[in-house]
Amino acid sequence: MDYDVIIVGGGAAGLSAALYATRAQLRTLVVEKMGCGGQILTTDLIENYPGFPEGVKGPLLAQAMEQQARKFGAEVLYDVVERVEVQGHPKVVYTASGARLTATALILAMGGEHNKLGVPGEEEFAGRGVSYCATCDGNFFAGQPVVVVGGGDAAIEEGLYLTRIVEKVTVVHRRDQLRASKILQQRAFANPKMEFRWSTVVQEIRGKESVDRVLLKDLKTGGTYEFPTQAVFIYIGFHPATAFLRGSGVPMDSAGHIITNIRMETAIPGVFACGDVRQFSDRQLGTAVGDGITAALSAYRYITEHLGA
Ligand code: NAP
Repeated sequence: MDYDVIIVGGGAAGLSAALYATRAQLRTLVVEKMGCGGQILTTDLIENYPGFPEGVKGPLLAQAMEQQARKFGAEVLYDVVERVEVQGHPKVVYTASGARLTATALILAMGGEHNKLGVPGEEEFAGRGVSYCATCDGNFFAGQPVVVVGGGDAAIEEGLYLTRIVEKVTVVHRRDQLRASKILQQRAFANPKMEFRWSTVVQEIRGKESVDRVLLKDLKTGGTYEFPTQAVFIYIGFHPATAFLRGSGVPMDSAGHIITNIRMETAIPGVFACGDVRQFSDRQLGTAVGDGITAALSAYRYITEHLGA
C-alpha cells in the first residue's frame, strides 16, 4: 500500500484533511492539479474567516495551509487524477502522468467552479467588481448599487443577503420568471431594495480600475443600454469537479455533487468527500475547512476500526 489516505484536491478542504490525517500519523498524499489553495488562491482579501480581524490575503492563507500540512508530513503530488477504483480494498488512483497509487482510504476534495458568463470584462474585472460570492465580497460594496445575474436559488438568496449591505440589488435574469423556490421569490418581490430586469442578459462588464457599469441587452426588444453598477455578482450555477468519477460508483446527485452523510462518508466504505464538491455544501472557506477535518477524522476511524491498521 502506497499510502493510508490519498486526498484528491489541495484546496482548503483537502489541505485541512491532510493536516488532520498527518497529525493522526496517517501516510498522506494530496494530489493537486495546479497549485494548492483552490478558490482562496484567487481571492484577494478574505474577511469572513475567523481569526483575521483585518482579513487575510487568499494566496498567503493558501501557502500557510499547505506549509502546515507539509510540516506534519503530507506529501503533495502535482498531477491530474483521471480515474479511481473505489470498490473494495485498496482504493486505486490513476493520474494523467501514468501513476498508479494505492491507499486504504480516499478523500475527494476537488471543489468545483462557478459557471461563467463568458462575456467581455468578466475575467478582466474578477476581484475588482466581478464576484461569485456575496458573503465574501458583499461588504466591499456597502451602500452602493450592485447587479446580481441569475434567477435560481443562489442568485435570489445571495441577492437578498446583499440587500442588507448595499444600496440596491438589480437582478438581471434571462427569462421573465425565476427558477428560485417560491418562498425566496416572495421574499425577493417584497424587498424594496431588490428590483428586476427581466428577459435581459449582461453583454459586457465595463469600468476603469474596477467595474462601474454593465452593458445590458433586452432580449424582447433587442435593445442594448448601459446600466451603472459597482459590482456584478454572478450566480448562474456551479459545477463540481467530479467528471472523472463518472462510472466509478461514487454516489452523486444529478448535478454531480458527491452525496455524503454528516461524517463526510459516502455510501462506499473508505471513500469520503468534503468541501464544495459535496451535496449541500455551504461553499464557504470555513465550512470547507470543517468538512476536511471531519473527513480526515472519519478516514482515521475507518482505517483503525475496520482494518486494524
Ligand atoms: P441553478 O438553479 O441552476 O440556477 C442558475 C440560474 O442561472 C438560472 O436562473 C438560469 O437561468 C441562469 N443561467 C444559467 N446559465 C446562464 C447564462 N449563461 N446566462 C444567464 N443566466 C444563466 O443554479 P444555482 O442557483 O446555483 O443553484 C444550484 C443548486 O443549488 C440548485 O439545486 C438550487 O436549488 C440549490 N441551492 C439551493 C439554495 C436554497 O435552497 N436556499 C441556495 C442555493 C442553491 P434559467 O432559469 O433561464 O435556466
